[in-house]
Amino acid sequence: MEQLSNIGVIRDVLSRHGFTFSKSLGQNFLINPAVCPRMAELGGAGPGVGMLEIGAGIGVLTAELAKRADKVVCVEIDTRLLPVLDETLAGYDNIEIVNADVMQVDLSALVAEKFAGMQVAVCANLPYYITSPVIMRLLEQRLPIRSITVMVQKEAAQRLCARPGTREVGAVSIAVRYYSEPKLLFQVSRGSFLPAPDVDSAVIRLDVLPNPAVDAPPEAFFRVVRAAFSMRRKTLLNCLSGGLGIPKAEADSLLIRAGVPSSARAEQLDLEQFASIARSLL
Ligand code: SAM
Repeated sequence: MEQLSNIGVIRDVLSRHGFTFSKSLGQNFLINPAVCPRMAELGGAGPGVGMLEIGAGIGVLTAELAKRADKVVCVEIDTRLLPVLDETLAGYDNIEIVNADVMQVDLSALVAEKFAGMQVAVCANLPYYITSPVIMRLLEQRLPIRSITVMVQKEAAQRLCARPGTREVGAVSIAVRYYSEPKLLFQVSRGSFLPAPDVDSAVIRLDVLPNPAVDAPPEAFFRVVRAAFSMRRKTLLNCLSGGLGIPKAEADSLLIRAGVPSSARAEQLDLEQFASIARSLL
């Protein structure tokens, strides 16, 4: 079906199927026709590529991905959307909808089974209630994917792409940079969605690194990052002592071994300094 981002077409399809939006599933569907082609292009959909999408809605992005890539597999939790998608995506023979929760499904098995022999990239307008958990799930499982291009809330985009050493940086910014190179691509106004959310959005792309950015095992690295950001505006010494559950003297000697000043704050550290503290923990 053409014109999937046309608001008249969307309203007609949804009302014929008696569909009502679920706020708890983060259902804000794109109605701005300029956004999905741009996301598909910048997300790397092309010949020889398999695209993994999360959350099809009525299939507006799914269709743009399918026009460009060899194959699209979309994980959609809402069973009510399946008959809608049967109708809206009837013209494509390279799309498969998997009716599952992206937080439960075995993503490694899914990618291996559905995309054998293809390069794989993720492209999605994410349900906002699980933005960071989905991104971390995709990254932590070390899936054989080259990039993750996702629409997220504008503030989340800024945090996910924040550079170490800036005020915006948080634990998730450091976690993302351990596995990938993040880039903010473009902003999307709230009026581009039906129903319109309360906040604007942005599309980001995470180019997945072949190996972690720094030399430290993930368990120790993430323990340190979580502890370091556990109390905003407190010194590293206090955060590490509280967050790791160790006496201050022990946290102090950890920082001395790592060569990091105990008066520093987490937002001032670069990735290598977090890695150095993590290695001192081992
Ligand atoms: N891609 C469509 C678009 O851009 O119009 C829909 C995007 S909408 C923001 C998010 C979609 O994710 C909805 O279709 C929703 O049902 C689906 N979704 C929500 N939670 C999910 C989950 N845990 N696993 C898979 N899909 C989910």
